[in-house]
Amino acid sequence: MIDDIDATTARVLLGLDGRRSRETVLAEAGAAGADIAVVSTLLAGLRRCDLVVDAEPLELSALGGPDTAERLAPDHSGLSVSGVAAPLATLRHRRARMVAVHNTGRLGAPVASLLAAAGVGTIRLVDDEMARPSDAAPGGLLPMDSFTPRRAGAAAAVRRAAPEVRLDTAASGETPDLVVLAGCTPVEPVLLRSLHRLGVSHLAVSIRESTAVVGPLVVPGTTSCLTCADLQRRDRDPAWPRLAAQLSVRRRRMSEPGEVTLTMMAAALATAQALLWLDGGTTPTLGGTLELRTSAPQIQRRNWVPHPHCPCGAGRTAPRRPPERAAGPSDGTRTCAMRPAPDRMGP
Ligand SMILES: [Zn+2]
Repeated sequence: MIDDIDATTARVLLGLDGRRSRETVLAEAGAAGADIAVVSTLLAGLRRCDLVVDAEPLELSALGGPDTAERLAPDHSGLSVSGVAAPLATLRHRRARMVAVHNTGRLGAPVASLLAAAGVGTIRLVDDEMARPSDAAPGGLLPMDSFTPRRAGAAAAVRRAAPEVRLDTAASGETPDLVVLAGCTPVEPVLLRSLHRLGVSHLAVSIRESTAVVGPLVVPGTTSCLTCADLQRRDRDPAWPRLAAQLSVRRRRMSEPGEVTLTMMAAALATAQALLWLDGGTTPTLGGTLELRTSAPQIQRRNWVPHPHCPCGAGRTAPRRPPERAAGPSDGTRTCAMRPAPDRMGP
């Protein structure tokens, strides 16, 4: 028996019908004028006594049916234990987002699949290449996709991961919430200009020899961009433009480098960064890159500051430090000033 509660709280408890989640009940209780803390405590007590059960799995069904709900239930639980205040709302938010993945080979296709599996509602795949045997990877293209359009193989991979996902094409005219540039080395200048002109945030991810490089996540005009990085390198090494051009030609002739284990780590870390950005969380790759090797247990963060002469304008408008700094084990291991890199960063 529960006593000593006000009439509004009593109505909330009497209205529990098993069709709404705890999150929804609390939101409605607050709107009705009840003390949310009191209602939350009462619900927790009732749950401990097995007198109420959480109906979130039912609401997860709204994201794409019972199978989808069951598949996303671990993600929902994971978000909950990670301290996300409204995990269901977060998944709903992801469902309404669109991410475009450029270059859907060995690295990009698994990123697209991971994004879809994590609940992103719409994926756009951008790739005109034909698949090669070296494009096959877990979560991505299959060996049997070789010598067929790579985008089709990636689309099938995304469907395997999340059948309910919507696959979009550029013909829709919609602007993606985020563009992932996977192994695009270098990024076509026309594409970069377009992303900046439209103000589309973009995340670079690539394998650089034995290192996976995730980032930067560029918010045009606000954080340092890929051109900023190139200008910083040029300042340090006048020969950089010539070296970059040579590397670019060499890479066009080669398959994406990288052990498959490193490629999978890069795909997972890039997807995690994309989700943090979409979810509104602190994103360490804003103004920086995360670098990891299979041989080293730590992720290292490198800070990239806006270049004052970059046409992106971030050097004139943004603070010298990125607005969001990495937290936890991925930051602080090495936050260094720019230094000449042995290879081109990102795409
Ligand atoms: Zn820039």
